[in-house]
Amino acid sequence: MAEKEFIVAKSIPIAARLKDGKSAFLAGGTEINRLGSSVDASKLISIGRLGLDTINEAEVDGVSCLRIGATATFQECVENPKVPGWFRQACLFMSSRIKRNMATIGGNVALARDDSYLIPSLVASGSLVEFSNGRILSVAKYVKDHHRYTDRLIVAIYIDPQVRVEAKRFSNTAAGHAYVTVAVSSNGDVAAQIKGAGLLDTSVISNSLDRSEKFCLKWIKNLRNPKVRNDMYGSSAYKRYLTGVTVATLSEKIREASK
Ligand SMILES: Cc1cc2nc3c(=O)[nH]c(=O)nc-3n(C[C@H](O)[C@H](O)[C@H](O)COP(=O)(O)OP(=O)(O)OC[C@H]3O[C@@H](n4cnc5c(N)ncnc54)[C@H](O)[C@@H]3O)c2cc1C
Repeated sequence: MAEKEFIVAKSIPIAARLKDGKSAFLAGGTEINRLGSSVDASKLISIGRLGLDTINEAEVDGVSCLRIGATATFQECVENPKVPGWFRQACLFMSSRIKRNMATIGGNVALARDDSYLIPSLVASGSLVEFSNGRILSVAKYVKDHHRYTDRLIVAIYIDPQVRVEAKRFSNTAAGHAYVTVAVSSNGDVAAQIKGAGLLDTSVISNSLDRSEKFCLKWIKNLRNPKVRNDMYGSSAYKRYLTGVTVATLSEKIREASK
């Protein structure tokens, strides 16, 4: 195995400056250190000592939100009473407590995986991501233009504790990869992710007041996305059906809760 350079970053600007195409930020290390990791880096920049693990109330453009530091772990979010239930539930999609103790929120968002535990709920809720240079943008935009941001240091995410989100993740086992994940928020926004295809274009269904099963199935049937393919998890038609039915079911749940 090739040797890696290891640097403990002493400040946020230093960490941000050190990052290039051949390096990676070492946060929880659950992806970087796993066998067959998707991260190929000759230099690791540890960001564990930058004090980025705080969770506190904040404001963005006059709107109150919860600011979750990038190196806060999944388990810290599960245990923090300020964190809303929907985000705790998304963290609990990572079923292993051992992994939750190590894996960070920033690391999960940065990977932008098509079976991500957090991204559908973050996108449906309109959550934001903050970089070390102070720039803030939506998680939806971050994922969409992910290639542009791979060298950026995420310092925090912002979530709205007032919003309500219902999410469902389909996988063959609790620890297995999700092949379909759907999230619907009380803002009306829908996020749906299919393994191999990533986040689907949900603009039509998010803008529709009709969330009947019939309408949701028609929407997903007509959605053009050649990346939704037959694979080991099921046929394209099955994954589309599951997505459509789940959007309808979760929308109904949100509607019932708001009565
Ligand atoms: C067996 C196994 C199964 C897994 N299954 C899933 C799964 O189903 N869904 C899923 O979403 N994840 C899965 N993961 C991946 C991983 O555990 C999580 O995504 C975790 O949240 C990554 O966080 P980390 O802190 O461990 O990241 P690290 O491993 O430390 O880093 C991962 C990547 O994120 C970047 N990064 C880390 N922090 C930041 C930051 N603050 N700013 C910018 N970039 C940063 C690094 O440069 C690196 O490229 C799995 C991992 C394992 C070992």
